[in-house]
Amino acid sequence: PADVATLLQSIIDDAHNVEHFRDHRFSLNLETDKWLICDIDEVRSAVSNLIFNAVKYTPAASQIDIFWRQEGDNFCIAVEDNGDGIAEHHLERLTERFYRVDKGRSSDAGGTGLGLAIVKHVLQRHGANLNITSEIGHGSCFSCCFPSRIVIENINV
Ligand code: ATP
Ligand code: MG
Repeated sequence: PADVATLLQSIIDDAHNVEHFRDHRFSLNLETDKWLICDIDEVRSAVSNLIFNAVKYTPAASQIDIFWRQEGDNFCIAVEDNGDGIAEHHLERLTERFYRVDKGRSSDAGGTGLGLAIVKHVLQRHGANLNITSEIGHGSCFSCCFPSRIVIENINV
């Protein structure tokens, strides 16, 4: 099982060294201290992809908010940014392999379009879903929602 708080903090620490990092600010909001029964390396790679995307697709010094919280019956790791957002018609195709939003705008930072396909695959293997909400000009939220049956009490002693 993974201590989600520790996992998220270590991903955030790594994010300061990724290619497109430009003085982004991270806030880690732990609304629950529960642990997750999961493949830690897989969940790390999924959440890293979301946080690295948030860095890559937002301007320098943008704020990125990361949450670990209960949402109804699920427990979710959410990554919220205040970037340009994504037009609604792209949202349902975003997790397809090689799908990238075509942009003449801001930072076309380059990439293969595999990141979100990997995220979706990892979440599927955990019985979890990726919920994406986005608004042009306001930003995006990518939320990994895990079923409560793989969430356990904090086992720190
Ligand atoms: P890769 O992750 O393989 O290096 P990528 O970042 O282009 O390449 P995905 O992570 O799958 O691929 O993302 C798909 C597309 O979704 C991106 O090309 C980008 O257009 C859009 N996207 C992803 N995250 C965000 C975000 N936080 N804000 C705006 N657009 C985003
Ligand atoms: Mg990506």
